[in-house]
Amino acid sequence: MNDSPFSEAIATALPILQRMKKNLRGAPTASRSSLERLLSATHLPDGKNSAAKNQKPVETIPMKPSPISHPPSPASSDDGRLARLEELKHNILSCTRCPNLVASRTQVVYGVGNPFTELLFVGEAPGEEEDLRGEPFVGKAGQLLTKIIGAMDYTREEIFIANILKCRPDMPAGVSGNRKPKPAEMATCLPWLAHQIDLIKPKVIVALGLTAVEGLLGEPRTMRDVRGKWLDYHGVPLMPTYHPAYLLRNQTLAEKRKVWEDMLLVLERLGRPISAKQRGYFLEKE
Ligand code: SF4
Repeated sequence: MNDSPFSEAIATALPILQRMKKNLRGAPTASRSSLERLLSATHLPDGKNSAAKNQKPVETIPMKPSPISHPPSPASSDDGRLARLEELKHNILSCTRCPNLVASRTQVVYGVGNPFTELLFVGEAPGEEEDLRGEPFVGKAGQLLTKIIGAMDYTREEIFIANILKCRPDMPAGVSGNRKPKPAEMATCLPWLAHQIDLIKPKVIVALGLTAVEGLLGEPRTMRDVRGKWLDYHGVPLMPTYHPAYLLRNQTLAEKRKVWEDMLLVLERLGRPISAKQRGYFLEKE
């Protein structure tokens, strides 16, 4: 039986730390400030630590200050997925399945964000800027997507963004701009995205533009048929909406509102709180 608050605290903490050690498959870590708080809590006033001094040595578990390497998420839990995602990332980044794209690309664009997210955005393919920076949606369309994500009360770090095609579609020599991925290219690359979705396990996928819809569903559809309607990607609810590049070309309130209404459906599906202000975005002023 323990005979001091200190030993009671140790007896309480030890099994928790051992469980953490087992679940994490390694030593638990703590931030420097947590360790400092723990140390100051165990430095009781003079005389009150005498029981601790008389304690038999207890098994110690190494703890070291460590930065948090992934953003916190309500859905986060490492059941080995992180290691499998790292392995998948390594394989994707060294993929050479499309010789023409390997020859023209600067780098493979794997995707960005929280690997344990509830919300996944899927676009079509890296453009020139994404190819140079190695991150999807970093050009003007990407900046607009970041604004949409912010209006939904998320950050880019909390969700995940990926593309159907992971390499920039090649362009004829001397021709600038970007082209749409070909169906055969999408079919070749799609298993990578399918594997990512399998491991990330999002609760909702948003397909940005018809190419993303076609890539995910494996058949062409029309925006009139699918936008704003729930589809299904292997059991994951799929919401098709316009690509942000479309909104840059069509900057009317009505088109912005259509995309926003799709995002409201996504927020409702995820059970996120929606403020009156959010509900009113892009409505015509009376
Ligand atoms: S587009 Fe996809 S399948 Fe083709 S080389 Fe790039 S990563 Fe590999």
